Amino acid sequence: EHFDIVEMANEVLDQFENKVEKKGLYIGFDQEYNHPIFVYADSEKIYRVLTNLVSNANKYTDEGDIILGFTVSSGGHVTVSVKDTGMGIPPEDLGRVFERFFRVEKSRSKGRKGGTGLGLAIVKHIMEAHNSKVSVISTFGKGSTFSFKLPLSKEEDLDSTDDDEFESED
Ligand code: ATP
Ligand code: MG
Repeated sequence: EHFDIVEMANEVLDQFENKVEKKGLYIGFDQEYNHPIFVYADSEKIYRVLTNLVSNANKYTDEGDIILGFTVSSGGHVTVSVKDTGMGIPPEDLGRVFERFFRVEKSRSKGRKGGTGLGLAIVKHIMEAHNSKVSVISTFGKGSTFSFKLPLSKEEDLDSTDDDEFESED
């Protein structure tokens, strides 16, 4: 369905703010977003994607910030990114973090960072169901940026009473 991804990201931010600030980290946007960005996607699933990515950013960052951003492209899409200044991912593991149960050795040995290694596999699965994908750029020891792309919905579609007829062109 149609929803405002900026509003959703604000909800996710509110949900994590206390936890993140308790660690001495900052969470915010890369710029001010005063206007909604309407997308066409499964809102519950995308909420899950955002919370899994922000939860990881928080879990694997000891200092610095977690920055959310949106880039609207001319092709009618928006790229949503979650950037952190955390421990990063070793290059040899970058291709494996979306596998079920895979965890970077370092995150496994440090008991304080528990987890099952499913969060990113779920994110990947959800993006595939949206005919999209999630990608990661990371520098080991410096930080990571996860991003995914969603189709924009035209404002006209928002008033449509017959949303079920909507089909994407590609
Ligand atoms: P959970 O199932 O609770 O999410 P998890 O966080 O270990 O457990 P994933 O979210 O799938 O599992 O992430 C897989 C692995 O990728 C993590 O164990 C961690 O090693 C690495 N990773 C994920 N996100 C980040 C990040 N933002 N910075 C550094 N490493 C990360
Ligand atoms: Mg996780």
